[in-house]
Amino acid sequence: MTSTLIENVHVAPVAGPEIADGYVLITGDRIAALGPMAEAPAAPGATRIDGSGCLATPGLVNTHHHLYQWASQGLAQDATLFEWLVTLYPVWAAMDADVVAGAATAGLAHLALSGCTTSSDHHYLFPAGRGDLLAAEIEAARAVGLRFHPARGSMDRGRSQGGLPPDEVVERLDDILDATAEAVDAYHDPSFSSRLRVAVAPCSPFSVSAELMTRSAELARDKGVRLHTHLAETLDEEELCVRQTGLRPVAYMEKLGWLGTDVWVAHAVHLSDSDIGALAATGTGAAHCPTSNGRLGAGVARVSEMLRRGVNVGLGVDGSASAELTGLSGEMRQALLFQRARYGPAALTARQALELATLGGARNLGRDRELGTLEPGKLADLALWRTDGAFAAAVADPVCALVFATRQPPLARLLVGGQTVVEDDELRTVPHDAAGAAGVRAHRRLVRLAGELGHAVSAEVHP
Ligand SMILES: [Zn+2]
Repeated sequence: MTSTLIENVHVAPVAGPEIADGYVLITGDRIAALGPMAEAPAAPGATRIDGSGCLATPGLVNTHHHLYQWASQGLAQDATLFEWLVTLYPVWAAMDADVVAGAATAGLAHLALSGCTTSSDHHYLFPAGRGDLLAAEIEAARAVGLRFHPARGSMDRGRSQGGLPPDEVVERLDDILDATAEAVDAYHDPSFSSRLRVAVAPCSPFSVSAELMTRSAELARDKGVRLHTHLAETLDEEELCVRQTGLRPVAYMEKLGWLGTDVWVAHAVHLSDSDIGALAATGTGAAHCPTSNGRLGAGVARVSEMLRRGVNVGLGVDGSASAELTGLSGEMRQALLFQRARYGPAALTARQALELATLGGARNLGRDRELGTLEPGKLADLALWRTDGAFAAAVADPVCALVFATRQPPLARLLVGGQTVVEDDELRTVPHDAAGAAGVRAHRRLVRLAGELGHAVSAEVHP
């Protein structure tokens, strides 16, 4: 079995005290030991990585994304969520498996370069006759080398049923349930070292029928997989939900059996005190996506209060088209600044922000036994940040240099299961420049396909 010894490194394990001059020993795909350099094992035959001047953290975990949106960035820049969705649904309706393959390759490569080792993806649009979109993104994740938690999304409530999306982009309820069950059966790997787990993820209360929500929850629990959806993102959503159901979004989802330790929801921005209490009491997790919430003017989630009351919070970059080229490391800073702007400078510390991005994310994905901290026995998913650069070296605290910085410190190494994915800010699994080029091609292809359907990307969607 191969082993790797990282030496002379500042270790921020998230669980337990930091070690200013430490080592991490990796055997196979697991962390075997860590501690101060003075106690480092000889480890003959191990590959050695000199971590001098670097900070080691757990790999970051992204708990909300829509990778296909890499192909539709920069559009409807000044729209509200509902305006933005209504503008982009017809463009997305043109996507095919090639668009998803290219967008996912670029999006996952971009995430890896920002220290992410595990990502979920919420894919909820499956235009008929355009190839196997889920298989395309799963193959992209395998090639880039990240752990991947695709959430098989869905929409069945088009405009004619009081929903937001046009009827052309929704699927039939029975088709959705069949395809979702097939996806779980084909791909879900529950093992400890799993690189691929599938979740069940109807899109949102305003695009999904109550019956699909209920039956999706039954399906997920029958299969033993997790549940994910969007919830309480904007006031528009809250008003629509109250008007249509008489309930606030969290109460509506509770009625449908959708709160629980096997559920994590994206955004959770507009929560009442009792909504926060319901999430805490049921163990329902939240994916905080601050850049997207800022970009769409959705609001500032009550993360500090949620944490105080025991709600698990992880981070998400959200779809590329509502965040624009957002990396995961920067979401730590964005989360910290949002909370401090709202509640004052003690609202969220740099180390709490790091915990959201790592252990909080692992809990959202139901993987905190395997991921999210650097501890013996856990999977060797680790980011090595170079904090001794010409400018960062002036900062006394390397965790501060990582979380507060507008410019991410160089990523000296990114390991997934002990295997190198990034070295010195270069991808090692797929050709670096080709990953970016795949995203550009996906964008051009989507624009062309949308044009063929009569939805030209034009002044209408540019500002
Ligand atoms: Zn989203």
